[in-house]
Amino acid sequence: MTAYPYEVHDYDVVVVGAGGAGLRATLGMAEQGLRTACVTKVFPTRSHTVAAQGGIAASLANMGPDNWQWHMYDTVKGSDWLGDTDAMEYLAREAPKAVYELDHYGVPFSRTEEGKIYQRPFGGHTTEFGEGPPVQRTCAAADRTGHAILHTLYGQSLKNNAEFFIEYFAIDLIITDGRCTGVVAWKLDDGTIHVFNAKMTVLATGGYGRAYFSATSAHTCTGDGGGMVARAGLPLQDMEFVQFHPTGIYGSGCLITEGARGEGGYLTNANGERFMERYAPHYKDLAPRDYVSRCMTMEIREGRGVGAQGDHIHLHLNHLPKETLELRLPGISESARIFAGVDLTKEPIPVLPTVHYNMGGIPTNYWGEVLNPTADNPDAVFPGLMAVGEAGCASVHGANRLGSNSLIDLVVFGRAAAIRAGQIVDPKERNVPVNTTEVDRALSRFDGLRHANGAIPTADLRLEMQKTMQSDAAVFRTEKTLGEGEVKMTAIAGKMGDLKVTDRSLVWNSDLMETLELTNLMANALATIYGAHARTESRGAHAHEDFPQRDDVNWRKHSLAWVDGAQVKLGYRAVHTDPLTPEAEGGISLKKIAPAERKF
Ligand SMILES: Cc1cc2nc3c(=O)[nH]c(=O)nc-3n(C[C@H](O)[C@H](O)[C@H](O)COP(=O)(O)OP(=O)(O)OC[C@H]3O[C@@H](n4cnc5c(N)ncnc54)[C@H](O)[C@@H]3O)c2cc1C
Repeated sequence: MTAYPYEVHDYDVVVVGAGGAGLRATLGMAEQGLRTACVTKVFPTRSHTVAAQGGIAASLANMGPDNWQWHMYDTVKGSDWLGDTDAMEYLAREAPKAVYELDHYGVPFSRTEEGKIYQRPFGGHTTEFGEGPPVQRTCAAADRTGHAILHTLYGQSLKNNAEFFIEYFAIDLIITDGRCTGVVAWKLDDGTIHVFNAKMTVLATGGYGRAYFSATSAHTCTGDGGGMVARAGLPLQDMEFVQFHPTGIYGSGCLITEGARGEGGYLTNANGERFMERYAPHYKDLAPRDYVSRCMTMEIREGRGVGAQGDHIHLHLNHLPKETLELRLPGISESARIFAGVDLTKEPIPVLPTVHYNMGGIPTNYWGEVLNPTADNPDAVFPGLMAVGEAGCASVHGANRLGSNSLIDLVVFGRAAAIRAGQIVDPKERNVPVNTTEVDRALSRFDGLRHANGAIPTADLRLEMQKTMQSDAAVFRTEKTLGEGEVKMTAIAGKMGDLKVTDRSLVWNSDLMETLELTNLMANALATIYGAHARTESRGAHAHEDFPQRDDVNWRKHSLAWVDGAQVKLGYRAVHTDPLTPEAEGGISLKKIAPAERKF
């Protein structure tokens, strides 16, 4: 028996996370009359989604011709042919519906003269299956789109009687007879323990950007869902694909949205040259992110970086009309002033590629159901568990995500998970009794960390991990950096048993919370570096200098990583290559989505 008493809460559904994905799922579940709890470690509107600036992609065709087939094609190509075609089709096809729903829920989108939702250009979004000019597909609420979405969804969830458990930290999943039956959580402000016993558990815990030293993501982005899944013996997928955003502010890592280039901003090197015109004559500064980040890194390496150390690049917005900056990009004007000391109406902003997004995550189908691939069935579903948003991997972003395709992923798949739960969760059925053995197991891990009395403070080990990931699993990777990184990361993970936690209390114990987060970050980081070392090709965000070509014969497959402590076992899963809608019914031809050379 555990020494910790706990309170049991019975629900149809428990959603862990209240970012864009968690709130959209919560709202959808509650709308269908499922008794839904949303458990979140931060106040809902403080989730990282609040920081999303640029916008949300959907082929509304408000600013010129567009359709879902073009959006799907761009997503397939952007993913460097690693995304699952059925999921990418579902995303592009459902996107307009999901955005109009947000509009009707009350998201205050920016408007065109005629009152339609305003859309801006974003990297990699084009017309005519990549042959035509860039399209204005990214719907925006100025440069505070995530903020607007999050506030609206939170209000709507409350209106639909979803119940929120705020500042509750989910520790571990409860697995009973091969299905998930809820989570164990710690209430941060009074130290009590809570068991959420549910028919369906939805992980919407966001990304793990904080496994790296410099990231645009919030300090709360610690991959807790991935950690919980790994401890439950389930795999993580495609973790080697980590996106570096081209324009993090030099020094702070704070993001300048791609919308800045969408509105006409451009990059220059030390010679004042607009170098993207040389690398990407068609897409120029609006090439996909993985490509722009690599071009910037090459300019710096070849001695054409700006600044005293020649170690960054300039982003110019000073030629844009003041009204555009005030109307379309008010937030980043402030960020540039605060974090770079720059008045962007007069000077360029110093920028550098910075870790921004995790394409990999918990594998799911396009209904958000978590997969537990077996040799016989690579798409086998693990019952009772779903994952949505950046924590999940449906996989629509494959090896590289297009800008503004994450916010749409959150709402499309948050909504899909709710639709699916409406079909498979029966509110009349009784919940299974709480699995006390599993709860005890989770609490004994918790207790072990609370009383950890080794030699290494959590912050020190976290820094060691972050520095290693930053230098050894970077924009460009080599056999040497990845091999050394793998050895170093295994050693770092091996030191988890020697952690020292100084605060033993249960109330507002940030030392213990950060230690729990480190256990999660570590699982994600290990899967990332092992997956990267094994993948002997270059694809999307994984740029391997010793294997510079994409290798579709051997590597057009998803990586799977089972992490157990410091041990990682790898496996693979086939990419879905069939579209959902046949060409004859308006679907996109198989020829169009077959792998081809990726030219910009
Ligand atoms: C600065 C920035 C700008 C961006 N701009 C754009 C953009 O313009 N367009 C776009 O498409 N994408 C953008 N992205 C990407 C996109 O915003 C994110 O991928 C997305 O917001 C992630 O949403 P989420 O709901 O999955 O998770 P998050 O918003 O990160 O929320 C995670 C939630 O999980 C909860 N949680 C986590 N762990 C636990 C735990 N153990 N217990 C309880 N609760 C937990 C947290 O409290 C939080 O509520 C941007 C990202 C960043 C960092």
